[in-house]
Amino acid sequence: MVEKRLFGTFGVRRTANDVLTPEFASRLAASYGSIVKGTVAIGGDTRTSTPMLKQAITAGLLSSGCDVVDLGILPTPAIQYAVRNYYDGGIIVTASHNPPKYNGLKFVDEFGIGTPDDMELEVERLYFDGEPTRVNWNEIGQIFTNESIIDEYIDETLKRVDVEAISARKLKVVVDCGSGAGSFTAPYLLKKLGCEVTSLNCQADGFFPGRNPEPIEPNLQDLIATVKDLGADIGLAHDGDADRTICIDEKGNFVLGDKTFALVERQMLKENDGGIIVTTVATSQAIYDIAEEYGGEVIATAVGDLLVARELKEKDGLFGGEENGGLIFPDFVYGRDAAMTVAKILETLVKEDKPLSELIAELPVYYQEKLKIECPDDQKQEVMANIAKEIKDTTDFNLDTTDGVKILKDDGWVIIRPSGTEPIFRCFAESDSQDKANEMANWGISLVEKYRK
Ligand code: MG
Repeated sequence: MVEKRLFGTFGVRRTANDVLTPEFASRLAASYGSIVKGTVAIGGDTRTSTPMLKQAITAGLLSSGCDVVDLGILPTPAIQYAVRNYYDGGIIVTASHNPPKYNGLKFVDEFGIGTPDDMELEVERLYFDGEPTRVNWNEIGQIFTNESIIDEYIDETLKRVDVEAISARKLKVVVDCGSGAGSFTAPYLLKKLGCEVTSLNCQADGFFPGRNPEPIEPNLQDLIATVKDLGADIGLAHDGDADRTICIDEKGNFVLGDKTFALVERQMLKENDGGIIVTTVATSQAIYDIAEEYGGEVIATAVGDLLVARELKEKDGLFGGEENGGLIFPDFVYGRDAAMTVAKILETLVKEDKPLSELIAELPVYYQEKLKIECPDDQKQEVMANIAKEIKDTTDFNLDTTDGVKILKDDGWVIIRPSGTEPIFRCFAESDSQDKANEMANWGISLVEKYRK
């Protein structure tokens, strides 16, 4: 495949006003608009550079003949919802969980799914080697707004859970939006679910004064302390563009994303009497164990949330997710959705009638180890081919080469994946004991060392 020059796993992410200038954004948007030729929704997160970039992409889109619908500041999944239902495409101005100085442009297709490879290559070709369409003066697009999308997004979320049952419980919830786009949705959603809501960092602010936008444990100490102080049922945190939800249990424990994924998977399969679950090859065996118990079928794609979303659409899947806790409910949004995740987890707490810590403790337990090793980019393909050959020729372990090389033994697995952005391999292993997981990850490292020159 041709190497991409700008696009990463989901859009283009750079330092604002350094590479990501108004000129850059405008031309890139015009290149995208030249292909879409329709009505494009735009919106973004709370970053200081978002208004500047929105103006720039608006100009680019209009010049290519597209109409623009400005949805304002709102979560990434709310824009994906709007595009899927009403528009021909969308550009989301966000750098997700990255620090404040970054921003990015996420492009979606008419289903609200991150743009496919062939479209991104065509956008890049127009940007670098060709010319975006610049229409005549009398064909320049027009600007519209749609101020009802946020309310609609919240209402559509509510339609998919038992609001009455959740409201009856009057759950005590602390929510930390990190001053990101979730500030405009999460507290309101929780109110409509009848919760007693305490909000932290729910004032939109592009300097992210309360905490870094990435919802990892060291950044969520205020949330953890507040959950404990108030004796709350649950703490919830979102990243900057509110597509991911991280939970804190009633004891103040940080819940890893793969646990949330497994918990919601179990609930979805129970409620729907089975269904297709889509995830990535780096996902835990726990997802397979639960599927087996509750009548699910698991399909694994290469790593990337938009690949999971696309497969869900193609296979008419029930539910999908990644090990980082990005959960996808394909009947609503073809992408990670924080609001639906919140609603579903609260519904699970109420329906199962157990505290979150207990529900998490019921899930299958596996141990993981993540290591990395340097390897020049131009050797990666050969290293992977040699490892796959050695495993095939000398062992009877199962092999999965969907993304990197995954070696499956009876008591665990290791996946050796080349990084798309750095000259390294990541070795990620899982087993039924920590010692075995460490051993397998180190075995993966030794295989790379053996074939690396
Ligand atoms: Mg995000």
